[in-house]
Amino acid sequence: MILQKGQRYRCQNRECAAEIEVTKGSIEGEFNVRCCCGSEMKKPYNQPVLTNRGADREVLAPLFGTRVGA
Ligand SMILES: [Zn+2]
Repeated sequence: MILQKGQRYRCQNRECAAEIEVTKGSIEGEFNVRCCCGSEMKKPYNQPVLTNRGADREVLAPLFGTRVGA
């Protein structure tokens, strides 16, 4: 995986839940980010935000009566 500046990663160990922010990008790498506790770290923000926006649109569309042709 490649670390990009500004990305945040959170430890998947709930008891640890450490979070890091990348201040300088990396070159190519084969391994995922790991916390000092040994658990894998994943991006907590970017992907969930995108899926939430999509879900909101699907929920709101019927409320505005956009499906007139059905
Ligand atoms: Zn950890």
